[in-house]
Amino acid sequence: MTISSSQKKGGLHKGVGLPALDISLAFPQATPASVFPPSVSDYYQFDDLLTPEEQALRRKIREVMEKEIAPVVTEYWEKAEFPFHIIPNLATLKVAGSTIKGYGCPGLSITGSAIATAEIARVDASCSTFILVHSSLAMLTIGLCGSDEQKQKYLPSMAELRMIGCWALTEPDNGSDASSLRTTATKVAGGWLLNGQKRWIGNSTFADVLVIFARNTTTNQINGYIVKKGTPGLSATKIENKIGLRIVQNGDILLKNVFVPDEERLPGVSSFKDTNKVLAASRVMVAWQPIGISMGVYDMCHRYLKERQQFGAPLAAFQLNQEKLVRMLGNVQAMFLVGWRLCKLYESGKMTIGHAGMGKAWISAKARETVALGRELLGGNGILADFLVAKAFCDLEPIFTYEGTYDINCLVTGREITGIASFKPVVAKHSRM
Ligand SMILES: Cc1cc2nc3c(=O)[nH]c(=O)nc-3n(C[C@H](O)[C@H](O)[C@H](O)COP(=O)(O)OP(=O)(O)OC[C@H]3O[C@@H](n4cnc5c(N)ncnc54)[C@H](O)[C@@H]3O)c2cc1C
Repeated sequence: MTISSSQKKGGLHKGVGLPALDISLAFPQATPASVFPPSVSDYYQFDDLLTPEEQALRRKIREVMEKEIAPVVTEYWEKAEFPFHIIPNLATLKVAGSTIKGYGCPGLSITGSAIATAEIARVDASCSTFILVHSSLAMLTIGLCGSDEQKQKYLPSMAELRMIGCWALTEPDNGSDASSLRTTATKVAGGWLLNGQKRWIGNSTFADVLVIFARNTTTNQINGYIVKKGTPGLSATKIENKIGLRIVQNGDILLKNVFVPDEERLPGVSSFKDTNKVLAASRVMVAWQPIGISMGVYDMCHRYLKERQQFGAPLAAFQLNQEKLVRMLGNVQAMFLVGWRLCKLYESGKMTIGHAGMGKAWISAKARETVALGRELLGGNGILADFLVAKAFCDLEPIFTYEGTYDINCLVTGREITGIASFKPVVAKHSRM
C-alpha cells in the first residue's frame, strides 16, 4: 500500500473509514445504557428500611437520572467534558447541601443523602462525584466550619447549583499523607496570602468557590479558606487522560500570593483534626457511591443476559452466568446493609472514624469484585461505555483511591481496634540497608 502525501498529513485513517454505526444498529440484540435498565437489585427489599420521605426521594432521583441523565453521559464521559447543560436537571434533585439544615439546604437525613448518592451513582458515577465534592465536601465544610455570615453568603446559591464548589486538600507531594500539606497561609493586613499547589481537585477548573486548606505560617496548623474564582494569583488546569470519572474535571491548582480577606477564613478549622468533622460524613457518602455503581451494573447485566442469545439460548440460561449474577446480587445486598448501618450509627452519634473507614474500604473492595463480574458477563460489550459496565468498572478505580485509599481506610480502622497507629513505617535505627 502506498501512502499519499495527503494521508501522511492528515493521518492514515482520515477519509478512509466510515463513521461508527449507531450502537443500536451495530448491535441490535441488546439495549444500551442510554435506555437505562429497570432497578432489580433490591432483592431483600431494603426499601422497607427507608422512611416514606427517603423512598420518595429515591424514586424522584431515579426517574430524573434514568430519563434525563442516562441518555447524555456516555458521550461526555468519552469526550472527558462536563455537560454543563445538565446542571439544571441535577438542581431539580434538591440534594446539594444534603444534611445541612437552613440556608436553603434540604436538611436530609444522612440515610436520605446516602440513598441519593447511590441513585445518582447507579446511573453515572461522575455525576455523583460532581455532587459529592460540591455538597458533601465544599458545602459541608462551610456548613460545619464556617461563620454564620459565610453560610448566608454561599450556601443558598450553592444549594441551587447556581454556584459550584470544590474542596482542595491534596497536594502533589501529599496524598495519603495529607496532614503534612505544604501550601502556606501567611497573615498580612486585612487577610492572608496563600502560596502553594493542589492536585486532583474535582470541579476546580470551573468552581466559583474553592475551599482551600493551607498551613498557617504563625501557628504551623492547618487552616481553611474560601477563595473565589478569578482571585489574582489563582489558576487551575485540567488533569488530562484519566481512565475513570472522566466527566469530573479534576484540576491542578496553583496559588501565587492569593489574597484572602479575613472574613473568608473558616473559623472552625484551626487544625487538621477539624477536617475529620467533614470527612467522617463525606466518607459515608463516598461509601454509597460503589453501592450505587454496583446496583446499576447488576441491573444492566440482568437485562443484557436475558436479551443476548448465544448457542440458541439467552445468556441468562447458562449456569456459569447465573452464578455470577447471584454473586453480584449477594454483594449488593451485603454492601447495602453495611452502608445502611453506617448511616444509622452516624445518625445516633455512635459512628467512629474507624467505622466509616472500614465501611468505605470494604464496600469499595466488594464493588470492585461486582463490577469485574459484570464486565465479564457482557463479553465484548463489557469494554464499551455504551453498555455502562465498562464505564462503571473504570469509574470505581478512582473511588477505591480517593477519600482515603483502601489501605489508608483499613489503617484508620486498624488503629482504632488495636490502639496502634501504623501509618508511618518504623525505620530500624541500625538498619544495614
Ligand atoms: C479522581 C480523583 C478525584 C479526587 N478528588 C479530590 C478532591 O476533590 N480534593 C482533594 O483534596 N483530593 C482529591 N483526590 C485526591 C485523593 O484523595 C488522593 O489521590 C488519595 O488520598 C491518595 O493519594 P495519592 O494519589 O497521592 O496516593 P499515595 O498517597 O501516593 O499512595 C499510593 C499508594 O500507597 C499506599 N500508601 C500510602 N501511604 C500508605 C501507608 N502509610 N501505609 C500503607 N499504604 C500506603 C496507598 O494506599 C496507595 O496504594 C482525588 C483523587 C482522584 C484520583
